[in-house]
Amino acid sequence: MFIRPKKSLGQNFLIDRNVLELIADTVDIANKEVLEIGPGSGNLTSFLLKKNPSKVYVIEKDDELALLLQDKFSDEIKIINDDVLKISEDKISNEKLTVFGNLPYNISTEILSKWITNLNIKIWFESLVLMFQKEVAERIIAESNTSKYGRLSILSNWKLNIKKIIDIKPQSFSPRPKVDSTLLLFTPRNNIFELKDAKNLEMITRVFFSQRRKMLKKPFNQVFTNAKEVADKFNIDLNLRPQNLEPEIYFKLVKEYENLRR
Ligand code: SAM
Repeated sequence: MFIRPKKSLGQNFLIDRNVLELIADTVDIANKEVLEIGPGSGNLTSFLLKKNPSKVYVIEKDDELALLLQDKFSDEIKIINDDVLKISEDKISNEKLTVFGNLPYNISTEILSKWITNLNIKIWFESLVLMFQKEVAERIIAESNTSKYGRLSILSNWKLNIKKIIDIKPQSFSPRPKVDSTLLLFTPRNNIFELKDAKNLEMITRVFFSQRRKMLKKPFNQVFTNAKEVADKFNIDLNLRPQNLEPEIYFKLVKEYENLRR
């Protein structure tokens, strides 16, 4: 069956067998439950099934592709024909899932942010093996004091360990995307810095990084009425820039903000 790729759903299908094999080999999934996001026509799904997982769930929004997958795999996989942004992944199984996804690039950061902010009491996944546009992956793994470092790096670092696996060229996809891609592996951190509300981290990093070239004085004064006192408490030089503060400092600042507002 010929499927006309839908740009609106970010449909760039992986066709390079070496890359598909490499993705399926990133973590051992034998006898484990797997969740694939956006399986498309099932190219990666076939490679995952060869690794003997105990179960494979897939979430695919495209009705036409969901039917095709049903045809192709029958009861080998459990298809959830829905929007990944609307699903409660923690309700899918009682077992921890290993998640794979050659993500639709238009919503890749939205998906990741959703999983990070919702990752509270129930850690529902063992690892995430996810493909992003290279430029987005660089922002996720960026360290402080670099130009790519920002909100996404801090949010990702909050709850996840991140490892870059490999860069992938546009030729590995059909249709070819305009940019390179990068595969990342995430695992939940053992000690997650406790914050009351992820929204406060989002707000503070938004205020700080919307003026990333300005000295810290400005965003500090916007967030804290006692800016100087807070800066002294954490030994922060207010003449530095937002990119000079490590993720841990941002978590501490958010906690301070939450305590002050109690
Ligand atoms: N995994 C396939 C592959 O590598 O060949 C396809 C990857 S393609 C980049 C992204 C897939 O995600 C498409 O199949 C698309 O229909 C699906 N998709 C797009 N938006 C989605 C959403 N909100 N929820 C679930 N699936 C979505």
